[in-house]
Amino acid sequence: MKHRRLMDIDVKEKKVLVRVDFNVPMDGGTVTDDTRIRVALPTIEYLLKEGAAVILLSHLGRPRGQVVEELRLDPVAQRLSDLLEMEIKKTDSVRGPEVQEAVDELVYGEVLLLENTRFEKGETENDSELAREWASLGDVFVNDAFGSAHRAHCSNVGLGEKLPAVAGFLLEEELSALGSLARGEVEHPYMAIMGGAKVSDKIGVIEALLEKVDTLLLAGGMANTFLKAKGWEMGDSLLEKDHVSSAQEIMKRAEEMGKEIILPSDLLIAREISEESEKEVIADELIPAGWRGVDIGPATIARFKEELDKAKTVFWNGPLGVFEVDAFARGTMEVAQHMAEIQAWTVIGGGDSVAAVEKAGVAAKIRHISTGGGAALEFLEKGTLPGLEILREE
Ligand code: ADP
Ligand code: MG
Repeated sequence: MKHRRLMDIDVKEKKVLVRVDFNVPMDGGTVTDDTRIRVALPTIEYLLKEGAAVILLSHLGRPRGQVVEELRLDPVAQRLSDLLEMEIKKTDSVRGPEVQEAVDELVYGEVLLLENTRFEKGETENDSELAREWASLGDVFVNDAFGSAHRAHCSNVGLGEKLPAVAGFLLEEELSALGSLARGEVEHPYMAIMGGAKVSDKIGVIEALLEKVDTLLLAGGMANTFLKAKGWEMGDSLLEKDHVSSAQEIMKRAEEMGKEIILPSDLLIAREISEESEKEVIADELIPAGWRGVDIGPATIARFKEELDKAKTVFWNGPLGVFEVDAFARGTMEVAQHMAEIQAWTVIGGGDSVAAVEKAGVAAKIRHISTGGGAALEFLEKGTLPGLEILREE
């Protein structure tokens, strides 16, 4: 799919509406991680350099159509101002006369941030009246919010349908990194490591990846359901009984296609989810009642590393164990560190997965870290997203 790009249009003396993803973690009015603001800077800086007036829209949290004081974007505006080393204008409303006035007064080379888009009910409902009002504020729309592109909301899809719409630089970077993975146009062997909590969240993406990859490594909570399907006794492990049959079907499909699904051969089990818990490694397919699988075991770690050594392309989503507890983080940490060392095109997507590679201290050595969790997975599954469809070249 080809998208209209920011580089291809003239933005000089235009009012440019930009959907960014400033949905940053906050703690009592302070931005605790400004990664999402930093990654939006190239697009904003380019627009300013080209002589545009920039109007930014973003959501923060889930205010559900109401004004929630703690979810105002003032701390975000402040951080953006620090990063750009310039004054940022901000409105306290999302629409209406205050916004209109601020836009009328906006000069080329200036930045205006509107208030949290989700303070308006019409945002998540993709209300056409709200889209018309926002569209009337500018000449062009740039979507640079990859993390929200799987939602058909007003500030991306609704607005994008009403103005000439192009992809910003961050969005383009995500599309080029993830697009080749989604199409399978990568160097082989191509491997995916999938972990995390639940299979049910990820069945679609596992099925889609299976078509493209040579080998699929499964671990984490989701692998429990596959192990159960193979006849393991899982004790008190996180398990989705309703999905044992889907797991069986996926394994059958892999066999038909001659592809390998590698499951854990041993597990670290614990009595409870805590640093002090009693723990043990088992490899006999039997987790006693009162115990649960919390990480992959040493033999599985070694096997995963061996497989990674053969790979030319790797996509990883989902921690391999309950990595938030240090005592159960070894599998995730060692595999992350190994992934950072291999000579392969490595990509990571998923909120907790990104946190895990950061905890492992190797984020800088991964070739591409996606800024979209749900968006990255849905894009790999479907090859497109609602927020990208509006940018499609006719
Ligand atoms: P991502 O956000 O990267 O897509 P998920 O949200 O699917 O990942 O999964 C992350 C969660 O999965 C983590 O909170 C982790 O503790 C949990 N998890 C991983 N392995 C297990 C396990 N064996 N049992 C229970 N939870 C697990
Ligand atoms: Mg998660």
